[in-house]
Amino acid sequence: MCHAFLSESRFYQFLFRIDQEIADQARLKGCAHCGGRLHVADYPRKPRGIRCALDESYETRLSYCCATEGCRRRCTPPSVRFLGRKVFMGVIVILVMAREHGLSKKRRKLLIEQLDLYPQALSRWRQWWRKIFPVSRCWQTHKSRFIPPVDILQLPGALLGRLHGKNLEHRVCLLLRLLMPITTSSWSGSLTVVIDPQKM
Ligand SMILES: [Zn+2]
Repeated sequence: MCHAFLSESRFYQFLFRIDQEIADQARLKGCAHCGGRLHVADYPRKPRGIRCALDESYETRLSYCCATEGCRRRCTPPSVRFLGRKVFMGVIVILVMAREHGLSKKRRKLLIEQLDLYPQALSRWRQWWRKIFPVSRCWQTHKSRFIPPVDILQLPGALLGRLHGKNLEHRVCLLLRLLMPITTSSWSGSLTVVIDPQKM
């Protein structure tokens, strides 16, 4: 059952550990503007997803503020859990919209019912994948890696199918990693993020 991970706490705990590693690395680099120390200033969040599988770590988005007087800039590291300001978690926005290479038709329909998703939400996400993501700097940086080119009308499924994961769960994590730069507007820089399927 390749989709079972979606309702398992361990999957979300795995994503949280990655977010923590990302945040630790970002904190070590300090404030991008003045080099100052960063203080914890997490945002409260109420992400929508499979609620019963989420623990209290999902009630916050890890974030920092510069400690230097006169700077105090916000620094929100990238995330593999939260897709920017969307209320639904990244994994949901991927799996609900991936027709090919994602869930089976039946599973996808069930998930949409389970999450009580309106057609308007689906059409907004479709627009995001077709119009906003393709012109993002994130995709402009990555797209040349894929030969032949990924059909943007088939996103995110077409992209999911091109990532070398050992199963759907692993491929979703690789896609969440690829999307990281798009998840924040107050941090940029390079990070080393390893998605180790052994630790899932
Ligand atoms: Zn600063």
